[in-house]
Amino acid sequence: MDGYDIAIIGGGAAGLSAAQYGALAGLRTIVFERTASGGQCLLMDELENYPGLAEPVSGFEFAERLERQARHFGAEFRSAEVTRLDRDEEFTLTTDDGEVRARTVILATGSEQRRLGVPGEEELAGRGVSWCAVCDGPFFRGRRVMVVGGGDSACDEALFLARLTDRVTLVHRGERLRAQRSLAARVLAEPHITVQFATKVTEIRGAPNPMGFEQVAAVTLMSLRDGAERVEPTDAVFVCIGSDPRSALVPDLPKDAEGRLLTDDTMQTPIPGLFAVGDVRSTPFRQLIVAAGEGAVAAHSAARFIARVDERPHGGPDA
Ligand code: NAP
Repeated sequence: MDGYDIAIIGGGAAGLSAAQYGALAGLRTIVFERTASGGQCLLMDELENYPGLAEPVSGFEFAERLERQARHFGAEFRSAEVTRLDRDEEFTLTTDDGEVRARTVILATGSEQRRLGVPGEEELAGRGVSWCAVCDGPFFRGRRVMVVGGGDSACDEALFLARLTDRVTLVHRGERLRAQRSLAARVLAEPHITVQFATKVTEIRGAPNPMGFEQVAAVTLMSLRDGAERVEPTDAVFVCIGSDPRSALVPDLPKDAEGRLLTDDTMQTPIPGLFAVGDVRSTPFRQLIVAAGEGAVAAHSAARFIARVDERPHGGPDA
């Protein structure tokens, strides 16, 4: 069975930064990623607030750069899903491609886009219902599109879509946008975007397209001010209402009210040698720069953990 110093589960910004720092510290480091590296970066059109990137870079290119840099320093990558995590004196990761042993583990599993939970959402997923404007927006150039949510993601997606069509409606259940002030101001000033406040989507309706396939055709909206319902035609619905952390591998660890893992300031969970970073970790400000910083701290902490174990007269895991 393969043995590593650091196994990183998840290849988003947090995991890739941990991989770079782990490999740079001379530790045998592996990253497990189910699909492509990048995590939430892959949903981003442009990174415009990452320090040092004055000329915006696409999320895809940023993820590629992070992976290239981690590989350059010696990190290994494996396309596999980790399905189980066990611990004795070290960790055993069970994957759909065999088992791997590791002295430390960094959980960088990120989060899953939240569902609205209304009729029509699952049935019409991929047929006009989407969780990624960068991926699916170009199919709706010049058409009517709706974005649901009032946070940074919803505003980012609405602004991206407003470059493709002049008929973007942002539907938000609150009375004001929750997004960062400058982002919210840009949305409110954008002539291609109409914002409907205090409004809830209660149903997404489909209709057969010219080829006979069911496709999004309209949504039912309810005013939260007077309860009145109305049907509004749209060709697509982009759901941007936050995300839920992927922490199923460690069901018994302490979490905050949103289900995000609690760690100390070295990123270590209550299990010695097990660290958590990025969207799966409880943090007051979720940003790429924060996730990348957490990855660096966790790799440094993992290196110190290993050094402490090696200094002990009889070894042992509980450094
Ligand atoms: P978020 O900040 O949690 O916002 C979620 C939005 O969806 C809120 O407006 C919320 O409404 C609404 N919402 C939640 N559940 C809903 C439901 N069932 N039905 C209708 N609306 C619902 O999530 P996010 O925008 O994805 O951002 C996540 C984190 O990533 C944040 O920390 C954010 O700062 C960061 N981020 C940053 C950037 C950037 O810096 N450019 C871009 C994307 C994300 P209420 O307001 O009424 O609760």
